[in-house]
Amino acid sequence: MAKLPEHGRSRDEILAQMDTMRSGDANWRDGRVFSLVYFAGDDVLELLYAASRKFFSENGLNPTAFPSLRRMETEILQTVAALFSDDNAVGTLTSGGTESILMAVKTARDWARKERPAVTRPRVLVPSTVHPAFVKAGHYFDVDVVHVPVGADGRADVAATAAAIDDQTIMLVASAPSYPHGLMDPVAAIAALAQERGLLCHVDGCVGGFMLPFAERLGEKIPPWDFRVPGVTSISADLHKYGYAAKGASVILYKSRELRQHQFEVYVDWPGGIWASPSMAGTRPGGPIAAAWAVLQYLGEDGYLRLAKQTLAAARALQAGVRSIEGLHVVGEPEISLFAIGSDTVDLYGLADRLDARGFFLDRQHRPATLHLTVTPAHAPHVERLIAELATATAELRGQPPSSEGTAAMYGMLGSLPDRAMVGGFVRQLLDGFDRT
Ligand SMILES: *Cc1c(COP(=O)(O)O)cnc(C)c1O
Repeated sequence: MAKLPEHGRSRDEILAQMDTMRSGDANWRDGRVFSLVYFAGDDVLELLYAASRKFFSENGLNPTAFPSLRRMETEILQTVAALFSDDNAVGTLTSGGTESILMAVKTARDWARKERPAVTRPRVLVPSTVHPAFVKAGHYFDVDVVHVPVGADGRADVAATAAAIDDQTIMLVASAPSYPHGLMDPVAAIAALAQERGLLCHVDGCVGGFMLPFAERLGEKIPPWDFRVPGVTSISADLHKYGYAAKGASVILYKSRELRQHQFEVYVDWPGGIWASPSMAGTRPGGPIAAAWAVLQYLGEDGYLRLAKQTLAAARALQAGVRSIEGLHVVGEPEISLFAIGSDTVDLYGLADRLDARGFFLDRQHRPATLHLTVTPAHAPHVERLIAELATATAELRGQPPSSEGTAAMYGMLGSLPDRAMVGGFVRQLLDGFDRT
């Protein structure tokens, strides 16, 4: 049982213990992990450390006390608004994609309370592949989040979405792209539908937001997804993903200042003074704001283009490698640098277990089983090795029945059990168990 040490310990001892504790952690630096960390090189990392450290103690809670943070936040938001093709878009810096999405749903709910008073049970329609932060937002803000199955191409189904709109529907959502398979939803069609029915339309660009503009400039075929698309009313995008910022930085942008007003909370009768809060957080650490501002300045357009080019080339090479292996395929036609491996014949969870043993950690996905890769610049030097390991491991598994051992069997079971409530209960027990050592 951990408790406060009776006597403070030495700095050296504490730091040494932390190094020991992390010995079992995923090693993201050598490009073997395919989510969670977006590493753009040691020069970027050192800048993030330096910028965070400079503003380590400052608090963005009160923008008048720290005009520096206010200025950096404003400049970040203006920079992103321009990247997303609308100099008049306004927004808020948040702690991450989840907070940005929570804010988009809260804003939609409060917009509907004012503009659509006949709505008593607000509904938001999302594609089945959308990030679960929307489910969280629905529960937190008491909004019904309704999943519409994606089409055979893995993208939001416009006709099915249109059919699902009812008089309680307040917002449609599209991902640019979806996280599981890296596929762009048809933003233009979804946004047009929203506009026609007088609904809001949120684009979740959390993972794509800082890759798509540069991919487009590099000549990649990127379907329209940003504020150029008529009907798009808000966009979320994570600086701490392909923006390569320090963790704790994302933006939520709105088409208009009127819409953003619904995000704000104000209480003017508190004995502690006039209180106003733009987003979820109270205290807001200065470090992530400073680091995000710094990395945008440091990389600049040419830096982001260079990293995008490198990342897209690595992703393309990996996809070609996967397609060349008998029994494996790339799911759909992903536009940018994240994608999923599928198979009709190979036990993918068994494949993932074999790759774990070879030091490559791909994420297991399900319904149907796929393996996920979010490619970053850190992966570029390892593409050939990974393809070779995939080929060897696939050859070993070909014709074998699905593994009945270890994590492969567990993932297989959790994905396929028809009683989803039971699976949910099992996962809650797992969560509960994390602090039982
Ligand atoms: C990562 C991600 C999110 C959530 O962002 P967090 O920063 O992890 O909270 C939302 N949507 C998509 C598409 C994402 O990839």
